[in-house]
Amino acid sequence: MPNYHNKQPTWQNDEVVDSGNYSQRLQDTKVGEGLTGLVINGGSFVNCLFPIGTEVNGGLHLQVDYCKHEHPDWDELEDESEDCAHVTETILLDGITLYTREDTIISNGAKYG
Ligand SMILES: [Zn+2]
Repeated sequence: MPNYHNKQPTWQNDEVVDSGNYSQRLQDTKVGEGLTGLVINGGSFVNCLFPIGTEVNGGLHLQVDYCKHEHPDWDELEDESEDCAHVTETILLDGITLYTREDTIISNGAKYG
């Protein structure tokens, strides 16, 4: 299966996509920009923004706000404070604050633009 995680897919006009990973690290990352007749039947498309007119019949489509603390090696993400918006739980233990953080799902479904 093709893996274009954090890379631009090498699609052509009228490409039919049945599988693969096309997930991007930043929300609303344009994929297939300028292409026409794109058909998406399956695959993983986190944070993808398809050209208007793309036919989406299947696949996993999410917009996710990734936490830098959870993905420290992802240079695309901005540095965040310890108590960033991804904190789901705070525990004070012997005077030290421990944080539980999660990536945040912003929306579910294909996006176009
Ligand atoms: Zn965070």
